[in-house]
Amino acid sequence: MQTIVVKFGGSSLADAAQIRKAADIIKKDPARRFAVASAPGKRSKEDIKVTDMLYRCEAAAAAGRDFEPELQAVRERFQSIIDDLGVSYPLEAELDVIRKHLKTAPDKEYMASRGEYLNSGILAAYLGFAFVDPAEVIRFHENGQYDAETTHFLLSNRLNGLENAVVAGFYGAEENGRVRTFSRGGSDLTGSIVAEAVRADLYENWTDVSGMMSADPRVVDSPRVIDFISYQELRELSYMGATVLHEEAVFPVRRAGIAINIRNTNAPEDPGTMIVPSLPRGRRPRKVTGVAGRTGFSSIQIEKSLMNGEVGFAFRLLSILNAHGIPFEHCPTGIDTMSVFLRTEYLNGCREEVLREIRDELKPDMLAVEDELALLAIVGQGMAYSKGTAARVFTALAEAGVNIRMLDQGSSEMNIIVGVEESDFEDAVRAIYRAVM
Ligand code: ASP
Repeated sequence: MQTIVVKFGGSSLADAAQIRKAADIIKKDPARRFAVASAPGKRSKEDIKVTDMLYRCEAAAAAGRDFEPELQAVRERFQSIIDDLGVSYPLEAELDVIRKHLKTAPDKEYMASRGEYLNSGILAAYLGFAFVDPAEVIRFHENGQYDAETTHFLLSNRLNGLENAVVAGFYGAEENGRVRTFSRGGSDLTGSIVAEAVRADLYENWTDVSGMMSADPRVVDSPRVIDFISYQELRELSYMGATVLHEEAVFPVRRAGIAINIRNTNAPEDPGTMIVPSLPRGRRPRKVTGVAGRTGFSSIQIEKSLMNGEVGFAFRLLSILNAHGIPFEHCPTGIDTMSVFLRTEYLNGCREEVLREIRDELKPDMLAVEDELALLAIVGQGMAYSKGTAARVFTALAEAGVNIRMLDQGSSEMNIIVGVEESDFEDAVRAIYRAVM
């Protein structure tokens, strides 16, 4: 029999009605043996996530304030879920443990993890599945880094002995039992780790959209949902701001060659997006899978006569950035010119110093910084085998009156990166989308 790992996000488990939908989805296919659950998320735009309520409890306790009103709000969220589902769950006893913790040594990560802990326990009770506390089987090093090797050993041993289970998302623990969390949205990563541990045939990630969009719907009107996307393409698009999964969630399943299917809990019949190690046989890669972009970039521009023949010029320039801990994004060069694109935020507080060091060290004829730039990525594996995409992109931008400030194509030829002024950003995305999708 196949094994599918399902992960339900906070909006999919925000209240009893949503939990029922998730449970129906799980029960519909016996292959869905392992579920990973988030804490209850927002029920409406104005609502607050349980994880944020728990951070508030911790903040109150750490400041010596009365945390009871905040804790009562958490209690009410869970009590209404329990009552509505009609499950038996020892909420009061669990809250007493949390209360005791808050009174003695309040800890942010422990408190944040309680949303997943409680919600997963309740979901397990409702489904009649075993509950697995990741504090016992997802291991962190003392420096807070995730320990993949020990986790794989502990988790696969535990899960392989179970017919089905709910594993709480978002956290694990150090060997000494201290609870540690992943960064926000980290239950996606837990799902991926569980899928790798049980060698799942598929990792279904259930959320509140019917898949990944081929462009930002806030910029492009009703963009197409991507049906298939490779891990590599996903990486390029998410780096450029297209968010559908926690950034690190792809790595465990990618290592294991497991596909991820993004699905919509509120529209379970929609096929969603398949994120795959490689496209299924007989399927040709799309020329362009998606367009994404982000604002907030700067470029440092340098000119120097005979730069071309000066050995180590780029090395010395990048060493200055390196010494300030500044990563760079792109570095297009001319014969006697060079520019470096970086996120503007990295220049905060050290801009003058960096420029002074460049002047002293490299003695340029011209040095300038330009802010308010945006980068766009046109991503598609099929571009490497076809002609004309770049021509269409440039024509579309020219027709939209957008000035191209930078161009770069990755060596895999699966992306074209275009730099434009921030004021042209949305027009550029729309023009490119119309031209290539
Ligand atoms: N509940 C956590 C958060 O709000 C983790 C998650 O939902 O993935 O970030």
